[in-house]
Amino acid sequence: MVQVQALVEDRKLLSYPCATGFGISWCSHTDIMKLNHAVGKSIMNAGQKTAQIAARKIVHVDMDAFYASVECLDQPELKDQPVIVGGLGPRGVVATANYAARVFGIHSAMPMSRARRLCPQAQYIRPRMSRYQEISARIFSVFRDFTPTVEGLSLDEAFLDVTSSLKLFGGIEEIGLQVKQEIFNRTGLTASVGMAHNKFLAKLASDAHKPNGLVYVRPGEVFRFLDPMPVSRLWGIGKRTAPKLTALGILTIGQLRRCDVSLLRPVFGNRADHFHLLSRGEDDREVQSWRPDKSISHEVTFDTDLMDRGELLAELLRQSEKVSRRLRARELMARTVVVKIRDAGFRTVTRSRSMRAYSNSTRTLYRMSRALFESWRDQHRTTPVRLIGMGVTGLEHENSDGKAAGDRLDSSTERSLDQVLDRINQRYGDAKIFHGLALRRNKKER
Ligand SMILES: [Mg+2]
Repeated sequence: MVQVQALVEDRKLLSYPCATGFGISWCSHTDIMKLNHAVGKSIMNAGQKTAQIAARKIVHVDMDAFYASVECLDQPELKDQPVIVGGLGPRGVVATANYAARVFGIHSAMPMSRARRLCPQAQYIRPRMSRYQEISARIFSVFRDFTPTVEGLSLDEAFLDVTSSLKLFGGIEEIGLQVKQEIFNRTGLTASVGMAHNKFLAKLASDAHKPNGLVYVRPGEVFRFLDPMPVSRLWGIGKRTAPKLTALGILTIGQLRRCDVSLLRPVFGNRADHFHLLSRGEDDREVQSWRPDKSISHEVTFDTDLMDRGELLAELLRQSEKVSRRLRARELMARTVVVKIRDAGFRTVTRSRSMRAYSNSTRTLYRMSRALFESWRDQHRTTPVRLIGMGVTGLEHENSDGKAAGDRLDSSTERSLDQVLDRINQRYGDAKIFHGLALRRNKKER
């Protein structure tokens, strides 16, 4: 270890000799970060835990208007124009709008019809998920150059626990700046970066100076940072709770912090202490690198409600292909399949089933989702469908020592078929090749 530590101080080297159980060998600086991390954890006793939480250094990275920025990168002539990415049908919603479009009041999750009224001159673009995934992989490779502890929240957003990497890179602010620069070098895109000693503050910090922000909230500056913010910035305070707080005269996080917690109980019930801690900027949740995703899903709202069983199944197959491809790209497997159906009367049902083992094969996930859909269809034979979606939960790493590795459902034939299709799709862009049934729906869309 002495040798590793001494060499860790020298930040210019890209690889270092380190002591293993079998003598000296070579390892990358990523290995050294992992080693520091493991050693740090194993020697910690319970009494040191509080101190360790306080000493944590967390970086939150969020790409600026990600989908829209990728479109501007690929079509530079769009750069200074309003660009809106999302569903283009009559029931589509905005996924991302660039900053030139936000000036017109456009924001994500807004109905596309409203966006078109507010900003008719904008460029409207259908999302190209495989392109965004490709760029996302580059962004996440930057993260892993700085720490093995990366918790992805979406394609363009992640928490990094860099506590074990501080010496290697010279401090949290250096890491934040270098992450930003390296993302720009490898993608040409800007990110907003927030730094703090916990996840809650780091996330607020990355949002504080968007776009292209870089904000560090030092431990001594927490109240100065939080106090002026409206209470709605706290996670979990929504449209229903905020008016109750207003009635108590509490508008800002600072007012909430100074308020006696007993006054908050009628509003928050048993969550009063939790919100009081948040208003003080306290949050002890760990960055969970072992769970990059809790679920992966796709859904589509049809332009006109659909009755035809074949078309609905074709859509489910297309979604199963997309979901399973995303699982495979991230080396994940799933245990539970979920199907979501919204009917013409806006009633939404979800049906889910856990499999006897893990899978990431298109065929297996499609078979499961088809069975779930058919069981709903049996009871609703004449109901038109407005939206259909499928997703997976219960995710595990494919190569981990956990259950997924030794307990997979898919045959080797299914796996090699999937691999071939993935390679073709990777090479020729998004979804150039489909299973026969899914083609039926793609033709219809054109
Ligand atoms: Mg973002």
